[in-house]
Amino acid sequence: SKGAALVTAVAQRLAARRRQVDETLSPFRLSQEQLTLVKNRMSAGLEAGLRCKGTSSVKMLPSFVYRTPDGKEQGKYLALDLGGTNLRALLVTFKTGLQQNTRMHHKIYTIPLEIMQGTGEELFDYIAYCISDFLDYMGMKKAHLPAGFTFSFPCEQTAIDTGKLVSWTKGFKATDCEGHDVVEMLREAIKRRNEFDLDIIAMVNDTVGTMMSCAYEDPQCEIGMIVGTGTNVCYMEDLKNIEKTKQNISKMCVNTEWGGLGDDGSLDDIMTPFDIEVNQNSINPGKQRFEKLISGMYLGEIVRQVLLDLTRAGLLFRGRVTETLKTPGMFQTKYLSQIESDRIALLQVRSILQQLGLNSTCNDSIIVREVCAMVSRRAAQLCGAGMAAVVDKIRENRGLNHLNITVGVDGALYKLLLRFTIYFSSLNDLIQSNLALAPQCDVTFLPSDEGSGKGAALITAVARQKHI
Ligand code: BGC
Ligand code: MG
Repeated sequence: SKGAALVTAVAQRLAARRRQVDETLSPFRLSQEQLTLVKNRMSAGLEAGLRCKGTSSVKMLPSFVYRTPDGKEQGKYLALDLGGTNLRALLVTFKTGLQQNTRMHHKIYTIPLEIMQGTGEELFDYIAYCISDFLDYMGMKKAHLPAGFTFSFPCEQTAIDTGKLVSWTKGFKATDCEGHDVVEMLREAIKRRNEFDLDIIAMVNDTVGTMMSCAYEDPQCEIGMIVGTGTNVCYMEDLKNIEKTKQNISKMCVNTEWGGLGDDGSLDDIMTPFDIEVNQNSINPGKQRFEKLISGMYLGEIVRQVLLDLTRAGLLFRGRVTETLKTPGMFQTKYLSQIESDRIALLQVRSILQQLGLNSTCNDSIIVREVCAMVSRRAAQLCGAGMAAVVDKIRENRGLNHLNITVGVDGALYKLLLRFTIYFSSLNDLIQSNLALAPQCDVTFLPSDEGSGKGAALITAVARQKHI
């Protein structure tokens, strides 16, 4: 009959659309073989970075942190934590052997875009202003405190208290900083302000700070991981493997800068056209290719590129490419984590899209949710594959058949996605399931609380013990 023919035609059209959507999304689906390749490339990247004197895509930067805390740390410290989007000032007090009695006060300052992308002097003057405000707030302007500086960018360190910025990442591109010692820049800004004195004893990467603060609670913690605006990992490496330094100590924490994997083209085969677009539109094209597949600054943009493509193909939003959809950054990662949560009803997905200025049908909302799930699922899988390489390296270093290890974790994206279920399983489970690539390791993830900043205070305490 005519009716039946119509139903068949509609069904066929729907099936054809479904196939097209699947085809668009298929490059995000990584096979077990591909993930194993990623793990192997990460392993090779870690090795090359340790061996290499010049530049390599995985930089493997020495941190001059030789051990995790032993609980004997004490004293009062100022910690500054310059992350991807804000600056935290913290006052931390440690009492020997009393982890639970650590006292902490903090204040958060957002960093305006003009400051992130202005001159280096303006950036460091702004940091000095924030410190001054914080000391006022704490009523401590006169105190001359020991301080630790968490600086979440790749730095070439030659000691615990010096570090030259190799290159900006994430949203930063302040001038006259790359190649300069950032501790010196901070000291000069404090001098220019001429209101207070600080004794900057340590500069650390946020991964190192996170590892230290988690190790304060769990001595098995010898890895730090950040999945936030950017992504990175550090771990305790055998010093005999670090040819970049010659010292008589057994271990040193290495900041891998794993986000740079693929900068030599080694991940090109897994890049989708959407990743290529996101990379080209970023402020650092060609750099941080692995990071751009994983971290919060980029996931929303990848989703937006996919939605644009599907809309242009007439598969979404009735084929209407709106200004909203064309606006970079409109699809923030926080929406992504809301939308992909399978605990919320499709109607709520539609209302989130509505808030973003996107009129959707029920079918649209199903597709959007799928896109979000695919993109974050891939991020978690890649993260797990990378981590598998790191834990296997530690296991092999120590000649062990089996390794039990804890990873201290921080970063807004990790925490955001942890609370939701991504379609099938949590981010944590996804990372874990990819650790099947390192079957001889048992890995526990320990989320940290203000870890990167508190860790800088701990490192300052450890560094001071050494001098006393
Ligand atoms: C930086 C790392 C940092 C990570 C997480 C990356 O963009 O290069 O140094 O640890 O972001 O904040
Ligand atoms: Mg941070």
